Amino acid sequence: MKVVILAGGKGTRLGLTDRPKPMVPVAGCPLLQRQVEAARDHGFTDFLFLTGHMAHVIEDHFGDGSAMGVTITHFREPEPLGTAGAVRAARHLLNEPFVVLYGDTLIDVDLAHMADLHRRSGAAGTIFAHPNDHPYDSDVLDVDEDGRVLRLMAKPHPEGILLPNLVSAALYVLSPEAIDHVPANRASDWAHDVFPAILSAGQRLQAYRSLEYVKDMGTPERLARGEADLASGRVARLSLRYPKPAIFLDRDGVLNVERNGIHDSASLELLPGAADAVRRINLAGIPAICVTNQPDVAKGMLTFERLRAVHAALDTQLAAGKAYLDDLLFCPHHPEMGWPGEVPALKVACACRKPEPGMLLDAAERHRLDLSASWLVGDRYADVAAAHAAGARAILVATGHDGNDSARYPDIKPDHVAPDLGAAVDYLLEVMV
Ligand SMILES: [Mg+2]
Ligand SMILES: [Zn+2]
Repeated sequence: MKVVILAGGKGTRLGLTDRPKPMVPVAGCPLLQRQVEAARDHGFTDFLFLTGHMAHVIEDHFGDGSAMGVTITHFREPEPLGTAGAVRAARHLLNEPFVVLYGDTLIDVDLAHMADLHRRSGAAGTIFAHPNDHPYDSDVLDVDEDGRVLRLMAKPHPEGILLPNLVSAALYVLSPEAIDHVPANRASDWAHDVFPAILSAGQRLQAYRSLEYVKDMGTPERLARGEADLASGRVARLSLRYPKPAIFLDRDGVLNVERNGIHDSASLELLPGAADAVRRINLAGIPAICVTNQPDVAKGMLTFERLRAVHAALDTQLAAGKAYLDDLLFCPHHPEMGWPGEVPALKVACACRKPEPGMLLDAAERHRLDLSASWLVGDRYADVAAAHAAGARAILVATGHDGNDSARYPDIKPDHVAPDLGAAVDYLLEVMV
């Protein structure tokens, strides 16, 4: 599979005068060289550089790539046509799925893993996606429970709307047919022009939700942060090469007020201090992953669509405190029959409904988590039991149900107790960091 790198940027905001943006040194090594090395480490050896501004600097530095053990084709854009137009101009060189990388991003991503998801989903395009602490000025994806993109919401977003916090991170795997949607003879952008056209045509776009590191280095501040993240090991730590600890968070009664079922976005209300607690997890570089039982879906009282809106409200309220969840898994099942309007297909004894550990095991598989070093914060013994069944430890908090199901779990004992999530995070940042 080819890796196409958009390498025509000027780097004005970085104050570059003698080289194009992708050649900016990051901790002493040109960013573009870091990208080639990162892709090569995952078995990619065939590169197409789409260049423009000061193309000769890139050509002189890399040549045909043989010094790095790869093959590099340089294609100078006849005129700047945007992120999508540039690829269209080179379409004669692209007849099978390819990776698109923006030349100003620092990445440590298992591209082979992402390409594999792309092949399996049959999508026209797969978009790397992750939450961040500023979704209001980011391009955001609204996805269903299978990761299929329903809508692409381009920045900026009006204040006050419900905004799922899943940001498109300028890294794609595309099939050649995606290029058919790029307009001829005018500048166009993947996120703003082409992906909406692909969705309008009824074709599939898939989100690749990952903890791995992808950040643009387009300003001096971001560049400094990227260099600090390399030096601290944060870039590598988030990769799939290393198992990493996570903090799992139950939803109702831990993050938000317990209401015995939340069926609309207006009923979701964060507990005091919850956003601040999640933000502190985020700043510590530990994945924050919500795992929640939502049996009302099986009972026919809550549709998947409404649950998406509830989770958009959760994301929106967390984002107001600059906090985010790295992932959220929910169990829509319920074992017992007998509700009017219930969904028979979801009325099953599943492996994901807590106290079963399925959601933690799924998250561990997806993000390569070290469960033995991970913790869960919950308000019920069912949460504690799920954590223990997964090989993790658990804190019981006194908010929400305050452990009122203890009689059903006589053999289960939390590893720690805390008054609320804030206090639980105080404790975890002591023992985990
Ligand atoms: Mg709960
Ligand atoms: Zn389930």
